[in-house]
Amino acid sequence: MPDSRFVPMVTYDRRFLFWWGLLLFCCKLGSRRQLDFALRDPETYILDNVNRLSGCEQESLPVHKTLSHFLGHVGSAAVAWVRTECVRHLIRNKVLDAARFYGRFVIAVDGTGYLRFHQPHCAHCLVHKNGSVVSYLHPVLEAKLVDPRGLALSVATEFIENPIPHRSLAAPALATLSEYETVKQDCELKAFARLAQSLKTDFPQTPFCLSGDSLFACGPVITLCEQNHWSYVLTFKPGRTPSLWQDFQGLLSLSPGNRLQCRRPDGTRQCFRWVNDLRYDDDAGRRHTVHALLCQEQRDNTPQTFAWITDLRLTAANVVAVAEQGGRVRSKIENQGFNLQKNSGLNLEHAYSTNADVLKAFYYLLQIAHLFLQMFEMGSLLQHLARQYACSPRQLFGSLKNLAQRLLEGFRYCLLPDEAFDPAEAARGQIRLCDSS
Ligand SMILES: [Zn+2]
Repeated sequence: MPDSRFVPMVTYDRRFLFWWGLLLFCCKLGSRRQLDFALRDPETYILDNVNRLSGCEQESLPVHKTLSHFLGHVGSAAVAWVRTECVRHLIRNKVLDAARFYGRFVIAVDGTGYLRFHQPHCAHCLVHKNGSVVSYLHPVLEAKLVDPRGLALSVATEFIENPIPHRSLAAPALATLSEYETVKQDCELKAFARLAQSLKTDFPQTPFCLSGDSLFACGPVITLCEQNHWSYVLTFKPGRTPSLWQDFQGLLSLSPGNRLQCRRPDGTRQCFRWVNDLRYDDDAGRRHTVHALLCQEQRDNTPQTFAWITDLRLTAANVVAVAEQGGRVRSKIENQGFNLQKNSGLNLEHAYSTNADVLKAFYYLLQIAHLFLQMFEMGSLLQHLARQYACSPRQLFGSLKNLAQRLLEGFRYCLLPDEAFDPAEAARGQIRLCDSS
């Protein structure tokens, strides 16, 4: 009779576990536990397909705890490296060339809520008090490569953590809403310095243009852009740099020729005005030369004003592009980036682990899966299929969530064919990114 104390030990190849973990997000399973049900059924092709994707010959599927154990073992930095390699590969193979703005890739930078706990979680949570409700938060600062089509690819991440551990987790120092905002913004700017360093290390030669909200329109950020030879288009608000705004207003009236009026396809009337070569002395006494752009819009009798500062010298020939592709494109990190990752089944705000580093590893795994999904959704293969039915891919499947469901069904019930892994076959049918989302 076999001794039940001796369970046969299975060793899983890291490539196999990586692909299996990636499918958790590609198929939008929502929680780690779902791996044991949706991706483990012996009656399906899951095992064969993961073996094919990873080039392995495993004889059984793991359980979800094996994935956590594996991620804890390799560490989050290794998963972050794979994310960065994926983006480098796309840039090198010119897949993202249509996203370039005057030769540069636009990198939107923004912070967002990531994890929220109602009980003290760890020494690094930011503590936020709103009335009688206390939350323990882990926000994150992201840099995403964005373009007007809706692309939002994670290129660098900084987890915003309280650097000073609370004296006691039982009685942590509480911050009111306004104190919390101050701490968070301060942390975002500090995190940006770290993020800029890793972005430069990971992409030393890639020409970037930084796009950020008014929090980033300040001396430290502009200095980092200058040092790294990055362009920038940052939201310009009077309250952030009051004297620079005052100079800008004064010089605008002295430059009546710097004006362009146009109309957007939706009927919105726009009036652009700009001033080049503004001198900006920041709080640390550093002198910068910036150019400032104002855009006044009239839509349905509602006037709106937008403004940006940039290192790009402004002319009538480029102001529309600077505003659209350098400035407004920033909204893609919020809409196509954070909102989709939180609300379309990727479950960004779900705590996939209780271990701090494994949590981060899952975060990066999600970013890689989202990159894959964007290439899939915006790729010519799916566009071509949808065109046969005279609609867009999203109309064809009803929603992005349904698309992930179909992907899961595909992995469960269809064996990936040999030709899918044949390099010669792959070279014949190149998948390109579509022109519009
Ligand atoms: Zn915590």
